[in-house]
Amino acid sequence: MTQSPPTSPRVQTISTAPPSSPTPTTPDDDFDVCIVGGGPGGLATLSATIEPYSRDKTNDEKNTVKSAYDSGLATRRKPPRVCVVDPGDSWLQTWHERFKALQIKWLRSPMGAHPDAFDINSLLAYATTEGRAKDMFDSGVDKKKFRTVREAHSGILNLPSNALFEDFCKDLAARLPHTFVKGKVGTIEGTDGDFKINLEGGRKLKAKSVVLALGVPGPQACPAALSSLPDHLMFHSDDKLGGRLQELKNGRKVLVIGGGLTAVQVAQLAIKKNCSKVVLASRRPLTTRHFDVKEGWFDYRTASQHQYEFFQEPLEKRAGFCKETRGGGSVPPLYMRDVRELEAQGRLTRQIGEVQVTNVNEDSVEVMIGSKAQTFDVIVNACGHRPDCLQLPVLRELQKVEPVEIIGGFPILTPDLQWGNFKKLFVIGALASLQVGPDAGNLMGLGRAAQMVTDAMGLKAWSKYKNNMQAVQGWYQTNRFAEAFSDSSDSESDSESDSENECNCELEPELEEEGRVEIPCAV
Ligand SMILES: Cc1cc2nc3c(=O)[nH]c(=O)nc-3n(C[C@H](O)[C@H](O)[C@H](O)COP(=O)(O)OP(=O)(O)OC[C@H]3O[C@@H](n4cnc5c(N)ncnc54)[C@H](O)[C@@H]3O)c2cc1C
Repeated sequence: MTQSPPTSPRVQTISTAPPSSPTPTTPDDDFDVCIVGGGPGGLATLSATIEPYSRDKTNDEKNTVKSAYDSGLATRRKPPRVCVVDPGDSWLQTWHERFKALQIKWLRSPMGAHPDAFDINSLLAYATTEGRAKDMFDSGVDKKKFRTVREAHSGILNLPSNALFEDFCKDLAARLPHTFVKGKVGTIEGTDGDFKINLEGGRKLKAKSVVLALGVPGPQACPAALSSLPDHLMFHSDDKLGGRLQELKNGRKVLVIGGGLTAVQVAQLAIKKNCSKVVLASRRPLTTRHFDVKEGWFDYRTASQHQYEFFQEPLEKRAGFCKETRGGGSVPPLYMRDVRELEAQGRLTRQIGEVQVTNVNEDSVEVMIGSKAQTFDVIVNACGHRPDCLQLPVLRELQKVEPVEIIGGFPILTPDLQWGNFKKLFVIGALASLQVGPDAGNLMGLGRAAQMVTDAMGLKAWSKYKNNMQAVQGWYQTNRFAEAFSDSSDSESDSESDSENECNCELEPELEEEGRVEIPCAV
């Protein structure tokens, strides 16, 4: 058995250490939904599936109890059984490794971007409740632009620290009932309602619906000039999820290639580790922007307009639209200030131009950047990943049984993010860029995609089932974060009446027995 994620009666962890012979599917391996990928995208999907109430449903007539009954969907009485498969020991391990390797303290995205489908304020409320004001950072976004947006002044545009974000995600995952399966998915077979998910090592899971939240949309990008360099002279910033960055050591001469935030973070790390020479080379000058996409994508007054413009584009042009909107990488002002200071101190050199390798020695590499010849001990390629979905084994196999068109390396999914003719097999994250938009691979886009997928799966009706609905409504009306946003006198009186507010919903007897209704109680 592997190390468990934060223990919770609602979370079951299953290890899939390779068995000597293929393990047959047991009833425990049979799920309503299988989420492949335990990153923020997988967590956003779990939240959108299991949270009994989610923010997009507030005023939606179609989501009333009556319409759920009329449509026949409300015959389902239980929350779906969900499993999450990831090679890590617990949720967000990939994310954690990457942030740790680069020593990143603050997220780039604001407090309003997170995987909890319940409320856009969830992360902010969590920080307030936990007394973690120091874990929020004012990134300097021009608040005047958001003058009339009330939420902008509550701190929603601040940046969360990574420690806060990870704790929040742990708390969220522990609250939502699911089974965490450690393993890597190799292939997916079957049909809607009856998928077999084959894990490397032989284990098989069964699920009625599958959501692929695999993360990067293809292999590491590598400038052609560097592709034949030996491993010890060049590595990618994401090799071993950043583990190879440990090779940046005292006294080494390092060339970092890339024009985005990761390249800057690698250069900062090399300087911190006392590398004797650090050069940051990019094909074009660094561009400065707070977030990966323009602030307007985070502003509800303008976000729909941006999305409208994106969806107006024919599919063939959307990959280009995404690239243009993201600007091929950008660097927040906070980091640019540091870059300029390091340059002024002579600890960092920035160069613009293509890198050409002129000579490869046993333990160094000679290059030309523009017209300047230089020698380095190691080159770090920080050019990210290129979209080429068929390089991902799961999708390559899927393509053999259910081919879809590919544009710019991205699969063409249905508007509900289904793969080909499948109705219950979905793809989210950067891979879904053509149907979600330029922020598909970021926390904000992941949240939207998770909602789209959950709506299309039609699994939310359980939360509208008679008494469940009362509980859900009660829960919403007494928002579990109400205390966090009230003043201190309110909090006092709230806490006095805690016992009265505890959930006293009447559950269906069979659900109580099964212990399967997991509606968080109102506090
Ligand atoms: C250094 C860095 C900093 C970033 N900072 C931010 C930020 O501040 N804000 C923001 O919005 N975005 C940020 N991003 C973008 C970030 O990658 C995404 O927001 C987020 O990680 C995407 O989540 P995801 O779940 O789609 O992918 P991932 O986090 O990559 O998770 C995908 C998971 O799927 C697993 N997986 C893949 N294939 C299989 C398989 N066959 N079987 C089982 N599991 C599989 C992987 O192991 C991984 O754990 C950052 C990216 C990097 C590299």
